[in-house]
Amino acid sequence: MTSQTRPYRIGIDLGGTKIEGVLLAPDGQTLARRRIATPRHAAHADTEYEDICTAICRLVTEIIDEMPNRTPCTVGVGIPGTTDRHTGLVQNANTTSLIGRPLKGDLEHRLGRPMGMENDANCFTMAETQMGAAQGYGLVFGIIMGTGCGGGICIDGRLHTGRHQIAGEWGHFSVDPQGEQCWCGNRGCIETKISGGGVARAFEKRYGRKLTLEQITEGYRRGDDLDCTVAFEQFIDDYGRCVGGLISTLDPDAIVLGGGVSNIEELYTMGMARVRRYAFHPHVQTPILKNRLGDSAGVYGAAWIGQ
Ligand SMILES: [Zn+2]
Repeated sequence: MTSQTRPYRIGIDLGGTKIEGVLLAPDGQTLARRRIATPRHAAHADTEYEDICTAICRLVTEIIDEMPNRTPCTVGVGIPGTTDRHTGLVQNANTTSLIGRPLKGDLEHRLGRPMGMENDANCFTMAETQMGAAQGYGLVFGIIMGTGCGGGICIDGRLHTGRHQIAGEWGHFSVDPQGEQCWCGNRGCIETKISGGGVARAFEKRYGRKLTLEQITEGYRRGDDLDCTVAFEQFIDDYGRCVGGLISTLDPDAIVLGGGVSNIEELYTMGMARVRRYAFHPHVQTPILKNRLGDSAGVYGAAWIGQ
């Protein structure tokens, strides 16, 4: 394909507080970027959903107006949830007014065109593979470690979403039947062990102290708080065991980490040593990369999953 026939890409990232839009040129350059507040109507889910649809359509239309006339383009939307392939309805969304709604169908109907739609972890993995830290790797596993723990799989530059659109949802692999209750219904999911929220909740339950994972990390680094040292070492061990098991299962060419927790430098040093200990190979070489796109991965990923 030449650069003349490759389309322009529009990406929309629907977040809980903002909706962001981006226009990429065929060569991947950013031509436009816009951001608006996500409409909220706490008491009226129907109104909120309608307003969100209207806001996304307006953003897409405004961006299309900035392109040269009749230029072919794709549109992709990243949402905080998944779309059931059979029903077309949104599930597992933390913007609850979206749950059970045919968001993709409604937007396609209003805009009179097809579009791609993926969850934020898939968008993250796609963006880092196409234009971020994991460029050039064949099989990439993307992990978002923040308040929760999401994941996505990219194979040779294409998303692998799986039979039930849950490929990469490794965060809900239950690793401890005696562990904490997870919102998904299982106990002891990886998310309860190594996400920022999970570590903080476990810490509060065990020590009766309300600390964030960031504060626990600082306590560990200072070396003057035994609770923090024990909790942080447990976190690193859980991380190593979970990522080591993931490598034994999928053996990806690279893993890329995103989300607030990915800023903890020890994950790439002590954590990597622990991953090596747990993976089913004596000399694991898998690069574990820190993301390069930061908060922008969502909107760029949406542009790369467009139709
Ligand atoms: Zn779970």
